[in-house]
Amino acid sequence: MVKDLVCGMDVDEKTAKNKTSYKGKIYYFCSPACKKSFESNPEKYAGKK
Ligand SMILES: [Zn+2]
Repeated sequence: MVKDLVCGMDVDEKTAKNKTSYKGKIYYFCSPACKKSFESNPEKYAGKK
């Protein structure tokens, strides 16, 4: 499982349909809405631990 950095939910990377790559890393999301939020401001989310 990986974390959806936008809402904090756990996402199964094997079944996740909502994903994007940023700076060479793949990020997974629970929904298209979270994916959109990430893509509109990736540094805000990817910078978090
Ligand atoms: Zn989410």
